Amino acid sequence: MRVSVVVPVYNEVESLNPLHIALTEALQGLSYELVFVDDGSTDGSNEELIRLAGEDSTHVKVVELRRNFGQTTAIAAGIDHAIGEVIVLIDADLQNDPADIPMMLEKIEEGYDVVSGWRMNRQDAFLTRTLPSRIANWLISRVTGVHLHDYGCTLKAYRRYVLQGFHLYGEMHRFIPAYAGGVGAKIIEVPVRHHSRRFGKAKYGLERTLKVILDLLTVKFLISYANKPIYLFGGAGLALILGSIILLGYLVLRRILLDEHLVRSPLLLMTVMLFILGFQSILMGLTAELLARTYHESQSKPTYTVRRVVGGQHEESL
Ligand code: UDP
Ligand code: MG
Repeated sequence: MRVSVVVPVYNEVESLNPLHIALTEALQGLSYELVFVDDGSTDGSNEELIRLAGEDSTHVKVVELRRNFGQTTAIAAGIDHAIGEVIVLIDADLQNDPADIPMMLEKIEEGYDVVSGWRMNRQDAFLTRTLPSRIANWLISRVTGVHLHDYGCTLKAYRRYVLQGFHLYGEMHRFIPAYAGGVGAKIIEVPVRHHSRRFGKAKYGLERTLKVILDLLTVKFLISYANKPIYLFGGAGLALILGSIILLGYLVLRRILLDEHLVRSPLLLMTVMLFILGFQSILMGLTAELLARTYHESQSKPTYTVRRVVGGQHEESL
């Protein structure tokens, strides 16, 4: 089993050497590569990575991005350059512990497709990091139906196929397990160690939670409705039109029974608005259906994922 460890690096110069030592120790005896992605660092991380690549050329690969693209994009670049059957993601700042990797690989060997690290004793500021992250984790679990305690933990191991055909945008790397759940992967959560930052500083603040919530909307849509957008838009559209019909009925009844003028009531305007909105929503659903077809068919992307096929290879029986 070949293992690729993908590490996004943005200004982590002091951590890189100790990280390399810890990874080398953890992965001893395995066939592995370390893919460091330099996400436009300006603090000398790049020179340090090049030095490591020279020192340990059998294992270290450095992917150098032209500018800072952000952690998710850096991870995507690393995955694209990784050749292993198993891909492990880990932060460069030593907050995750490479010593947890062998235990995670064992789980992969047991047959899991995704092994998700859970920072049980998280060592970050409570109010700005840990609390928002708890709320976000609860929300993501509820919305996606894949129940994990710690989506935000980068330390996770994946079988390669899980990552294929999934493009990473925005803050999306944390949603890979949710997506994997959507395509039927076997997921397990394992507690991992977490340390406070020794060097450098954290690159994010509270604003990330906002991005995560917006990404969650996208992911939910992709998982549940990307194949059948009309169910979402059409459903909303039909509900709106139904509302408008009920309202109209009420107005007509009032006209007949109470002899009240139809046009004098603002409710008539409401009826018309609901109807137009509903109609628009259905049209939008149909447009989205066309897009969904283009999306799947232009890439010959099946709408299902197969775990395996058993038997049926005998040509003579055909
Ligand atoms: N990182 C990156 N590009 C960025 C910001 C961060 O590659 O624009 C890397 C960073 O070097 C670290 C990881 O992403 O390896 C996580 O960053 P950080 O520790 O700041 O975030 P947190 O631990 O709070 O998730
Ligand atoms: Mg960190």
